[in-house]
Amino acid sequence: MTDIKELASRAGRSASKDGTSVQSTTERDARIILLGTKGGPRIVSEGRKNPSTLLLLGGVPYVVDCGYGTSMQLQRAGVPPNMLRYIFITHHHSDHNIDLGPLIYNAWAAGLKTPVEAYGPPPIKEIAKAFLDYAAYDVDIRVKDEGRVDLRELVVAHEFDRPGLVMQNDQVRVTATRVRHPPIHHSYAFRFDTREGSVVVSGDTTYSPELIELAMGADVLVHEALYLPGLQQLLQRVPNAATMREHQLASHTATEDVGRVAVAAGVKTLVLSHFVPGDDPSITDDEWTEGIRKHFSGRIIVGKDLMVIPVRSQRLGRGMPSHARCRGEATLLP
Ligand SMILES: [Zn+2]
Ligand SMILES: [Zn+2]
Repeated sequence: MTDIKELASRAGRSASKDGTSVQSTTERDARIILLGTKGGPRIVSEGRKNPSTLLLLGGVPYVVDCGYGTSMQLQRAGVPPNMLRYIFITHHHSDHNIDLGPLIYNAWAAGLKTPVEAYGPPPIKEIAKAFLDYAAYDVDIRVKDEGRVDLRELVVAHEFDRPGLVMQNDQVRVTATRVRHPPIHHSYAFRFDTREGSVVVSGDTTYSPELIELAMGADVLVHEALYLPGLQQLLQRVPNAATMREHQLASHTATEDVGRVAVAAGVKTLVLSHFVPGDDPSITDDEWTEGIRKHFSGRIIVGKDLMVIPVRSQRLGRGMPSHARCRGEATLLP
């Protein structure tokens, strides 16, 4: 089984697109890697992949949401699939859960022998079971034919249906709050408190006071972003435009409101991810941040797939709100 050392050396060998490398962070430094930053279930051949965010703590992966293609993105981030250990699902829109089963399966195919703990709102247990039923024919064959551990014995689904403590171990304390993402009632944001800093992932939400409370004083807030002028363009390409517009406005956060949330919570670094529209390359980074800047003067990172964001430097980065500077610190894996 590939171990943490190999992961670190692979990450260390990686050079970023802008010529910097991730070697400046040691193998065990906490970091966020954005695996997929495009909101929505539609897949595109070029550009941003579907939503997933990785938190690496001491080399251990904590995967938040599993949009289509998460397994491949995890590999591209240098994390061997069989290192999978913890998964967190914010809510059960398919751009956040469709690869929950495949991610676990791919870990097993790569030699996983240890349990995978998946945390999420209902019906995560039912979803995990449904996937295992779907895969049963193949799993049965491989258990017998290849002597593999039974995948069904490795998957542990933990369901929660209210805000509060989700899990805790010696690396992290994970808490959740319910956010506003109608019509889904059970939609949550997560806060990860680690020794090196605190990271909040918004999940999908419209402006939610509950999220502000959860993110209070966090070092990093990874927040979704809806760019209203771009929404109009997006809607011209879909058949269900009227309903879609209503859903977007009621359940996602326009960039100005993202700024209001960040300033009210007093976060140090704001990372944008889950872009809507996420497949329109004509929207510039400045356009994504323009509305936010009206309210929030802290550091803003416009997320890109496979961007690496060291957690500790965000904690220490108070007073350095330069966008250009944060680009230098947030590196891209090839
Ligand atoms: Zn979504
Ligand atoms: Zn959603």
